[in-house]
Amino acid sequence: YYTKDTILFLNGKFIKAVDAHTDLYSQSLHYGFGAFEGIRAYQTMNGVKIFKAYEHFERLKKSCALVNIPFSYETEELIQIAYQLLEKNDMGDAYIRPLVYCGPNMQLTHTDEVYLMMCTWEWDKYHGDKQLKMCVSSYQRPNPNSLKMEAKVTGHYVNSILATSEAKVRGYDEALMLDMNGFVAEAPGANFFLEKDGVLYTPSLGHILPGITRQTVMNICRELDIPVKEKQIKVEELESADSAFLCGTAAEIVGIESIDAKPFKKEWFDSLGATVQEAYKCQVLEKSFSYVII
Ligand code: PMP
Repeated sequence: YYTKDTILFLNGKFIKAVDAHTDLYSQSLHYGFGAFEGIRAYQTMNGVKIFKAYEHFERLKKSCALVNIPFSYETEELIQIAYQLLEKNDMGDAYIRPLVYCGPNMQLTHTDEVYLMMCTWEWDKYHGDKQLKMCVSSYQRPNPNSLKMEAKVTGHYVNSILATSEAKVRGYDEALMLDMNGFVAEAPGANFFLEKDGVLYTPSLGHILPGITRQTVMNICRELDIPVKEKQIKVEELESADSAFLCGTAAEIVGIESIDAKPFKKEWFDSLGATVQEAYKCQVLEKSFSYVII
């Protein structure tokens, strides 16, 4: 993720990653009490552009607010830091990771000492070019009465790591997680859509992270006249679906070949997801997209 020359942003300064230090008594390190974002920048026809920069930094602030981490940066300021970071590291197609973490405090109360680090690295397609073989995870998404599901909080990702690791050990590419009531929720780091009879369905909010890419997909569908419905999806509905895909900033849009070794009816290139994937690629690269329903 970094070399001896990589620059990161830490508490108001741009410094070399190899010179950056953190406090081993940080509350975030011990208890997973921090907030972060995953953002992508693209080398577009109009120069380097951070995709949905405003939405991501707003969500970072919202995540902090939801768990009472005092964080006072302005969104515009955060966007500027991100662009400067890309420039200093001479990066165009890159992933940007802001992390808000806390100072030394072993109490189970929030601390007022809050730090911001931001770094960037080159990250190719998260899942490569292939469609995913997924399995329904034995790990559920957390109960929304136990955690703030709309917040991107560091500690929540233990649940994600357990699910992805389990899926890989079982020979799959990725896990599909259910919510506490047994409805389809999301992947450990991406949202889920399925196609059935010309309509796209995605799990309703409540037990999932409200993904910025999920919203982008819904906006694209509106533009392309593809009907989308948010609803509770039963596991049994997976079998009769025509196709499915995951979407997220890191994953972008990636087709799913099978779930629990049961393949979907449609070939990926023939699916609504593939059309949305093309439109998404054009949008992040600021290219125009034309789509004709035959
Ligand atoms: N769900 C989870 C649990 C995630 O970590 C992510 C990645 N941030 C997503 C969904 C997708 O969110 P976004 O489209 O905002 O990247």
